[in-house]
Amino acid sequence: MISRSEIKAFTQKTPSFDDTFLGLKAISRQPSGMSKETRKVIALARKFNAEVVRPLALSLDITMQKDPTHIPMDFVNKANEWGFYTLWIPKLFGGQGYNLPSISFFLEEIGSECLAMANLIGVHYLGFAVAVSSWSTGLINRLCQDTINGEKTGKPCLMSLALTEPGAGTDVEETDLMDKGSVACHAKKVEGGYVVNGTKVFISNGHLSHWHMLIAFEDLKKPSASTVMLAVETGMKGFSFGRMEKKMGQKGCPASELMFDNCFIPDANVLFNSDQGKHFKRSLTRTNMQIIDFYFAASRAAVGAFGIGAARGAYNLARDYVSKTEMNGSLLINQEWVQSMLAEMYKNVLLGRLAYNEANYATSMHGMYKLIQQKQLYYITKYTPRIIFEKLIQPVLGNSLVLWLVRKFNFDMQTDEEIELTSGLASLAKFAGTDAGIKNCHMALELMGQAGLRHDMRAEKCLRDAKLLQIYEGTNQLNRLNLFKCLIAKDFTQATVFEEN
Ligand SMILES: Cc1cc2nc3c(=O)[nH]c(=O)nc-3n(C[C@H](O)[C@H](O)[C@H](O)COP(=O)(O)OP(=O)(O)OC[C@H]3O[C@@H](n4cnc5c(N)ncnc54)[C@H](O)[C@@H]3O)c2cc1C
Repeated sequence: MISRSEIKAFTQKTPSFDDTFLGLKAISRQPSGMSKETRKVIALARKFNAEVVRPLALSLDITMQKDPTHIPMDFVNKANEWGFYTLWIPKLFGGQGYNLPSISFFLEEIGSECLAMANLIGVHYLGFAVAVSSWSTGLINRLCQDTINGEKTGKPCLMSLALTEPGAGTDVEETDLMDKGSVACHAKKVEGGYVVNGTKVFISNGHLSHWHMLIAFEDLKKPSASTVMLAVETGMKGFSFGRMEKKMGQKGCPASELMFDNCFIPDANVLFNSDQGKHFKRSLTRTNMQIIDFYFAASRAAVGAFGIGAARGAYNLARDYVSKTEMNGSLLINQEWVQSMLAEMYKNVLLGRLAYNEANYATSMHGMYKLIQQKQLYYITKYTPRIIFEKLIQPVLGNSLVLWLVRKFNFDMQTDEEIELTSGLASLAKFAGTDAGIKNCHMALELMGQAGLRHDMRAEKCLRDAKLLQIYEGTNQLNRLNLFKCLIAKDFTQATVFEEN
């Protein structure tokens, strides 16, 4: 018989690989108001799908096929009108303050109709997550105020992440790899700011965004310890857009080249640099990795949700097809092999959804949302009038003491085990969800035969769109390696791992 104290000791231990059933803990630890809010978000996404996404998805895909330089401003304006670019900005920064994990459910819904459109909304929050991961409270507030004004004035103000370079994709996502790779975007410290030279590629929403979270390096030989995070504004001298990629899928969402030619970025736009990184308990390299883990833990769960959106979209198309199509005098749905395939597709959706939920629970309790999703704070911010944030809190967000306290809490009070748990589960959600998306697209095409290959049937677009998910936010290979590194490797001694390799 296990004693009460043994159970208590066991359930209170710090999170580790064995402690992956976060859903169980989350039931009591997460604010219950979240589930009502999440249901509202799902309903909103379904209405938006019916009124905007579904009618536009195929025509936008064709427009971009004919003219890859087309900027899908009509859609972005609609999303702005519906309030989607401020829905998940915390009330602290003037946004609507919906709980952050609910964005995954929203993106799954939109992604089930069109992944390009889901990305046109989702990438803004990738940019936002990068800004938040620096905990530069004053500057984050400035960026958010621009987005909020953009909603009020009908001129959308989006954020993007500019990390990938022509010679460095996977390499810039891990500090371990950065120093061995060939990063080339250089930030030179000068009086009053930085001068940046270099190119970034495949930047989603690049041409559409006003603010770009740029990751550059002071020392190209030791980038892992000299990372500089800068907020760059469209229109700054020395910053220009290059080509838009012609890609196989998600055609409606531009992937842009960003070019920096002696671009001066003032100190006021520095989100994080080496000087600021010296004040924490981890080395600069490890603090930089912690920042990368903060934002990828949030965004990889969301990309997992995109994958589940694709898996669901493909399942819906196949289910509708087999329930209307006759084969040898009987509907296809009556064949056992078809029923078995649908069951498999249904399973892929449900298991992938569990995976991104686990990752979001981890981020809520141990990662970037730890403070904001904390039960008491969640309810205080939910019911505090907006005016209090505007008049009393926002003016002090740039204060150095506030900045120090917020950073101290987020950087130093997060344990290494918490970093590994959030990062490992997010990688799992990313590759599980996006692989499920691809599997279901293939199965839908098998079930639909030649009909599935026609553009107007949507299944071939779903497959083309889903394929990109296995590549961005770290290829699925990299994410598998990250899961191994974070949650599996410690089950072995170094010697065992080396022996087996
Ligand atoms: C549609 C789209 C949108 C994107 N949006 C953005 C964006 O908004 N912002 C941004 O900054 N970037 C963006 N990217 C870039 C994306 O994050 C990179 O494509 C991704 O990180 C992979 O890098 P890569 O394409 O250079 O592949 P590479 O790193 O060149 O990888 C090539 C192959 O080698 C493998 N590999 C690489 N390194 C290792 C390793 N160390 N160990 C084992 N295998 C390895 C990979 O798994 C892959 O199979 C986007 C990409 C796409 C396709």
